[in-house]
Amino acid sequence: MLNLHNAEFIRSAVSERDFPADGLPQIVFSGKSNVGKSSVINRLLNRKNFARVGGQPGKTIHINFFLLDKQAYWVDLPGYGYAKVSKAERDRWGALIEQYFASGLLSVGVQIVDIRHKPTGDDVTMANWFRMSDMPWIVIANKHDKIKKSQLEGNLNIIRQTLLLPEEVPLIPFSAEKGTGKDEVLARIFDFLGKDGPA
Ligand code: GDP
Repeated sequence: MLNLHNAEFIRSAVSERDFPADGLPQIVFSGKSNVGKSSVINRLLNRKNFARVGGQPGKTIHINFFLLDKQAYWVDLPGYGYAKVSKAERDRWGALIEQYFASGLLSVGVQIVDIRHKPTGDDVTMANWFRMSDMPWIVIANKHDKIKKSQLEGNLNIIRQTLLLPEEVPLIPFSAEKGTGKDEVLARIFDFLGKDGPA
């Protein structure tokens, strides 16, 4: 069993040499700025303020590593798609993501998109990174509480088609606000890791 309450911040990595490479599995979270990535992580870990470790959004480009019950890393990739970033910052983001994916450390990918909108070009780029990594990956469609029931299926279809999601990639409606989808997301992650779910 994995105790989700036992999570500790390890470090913020700005380059490859800071990535922990001790063989423990790494669960990686990615999403555009404001999609609710911090809220989703806080909801999954039952915390109020867990994910806000690294300074101002958009200002620092780093990867935050947390250790979950000494058994797996919980990896928070820097958000993307901020309106006001310079080309230099975009380049740094791209270089860091490339280093992470090239490191081969990823075990399970969790990509977060907004259930209300067609995925952005950056979302598609991110999906391509996960697809090329050849590792299991799930997509969370967050802010489910903000759409009407009648919109659900159509919106999920648009997300699946735009991201070119392979059939086996689960697309899970989620609400960080209400907790919808939490159990399914955790079950998928632990299933892919081959571990028993949270205690
Ligand atoms: P991040 O920049 O991706 O880490 O996004 P945050 O977690 O800071 O969330 C951005 C905004 O979206 C905040 O105002 C959250 O309260 C809101 N938010 C996040 N998830 C949800 C959700 O599932 N439903 C609703 N209604 N609002 C959400």
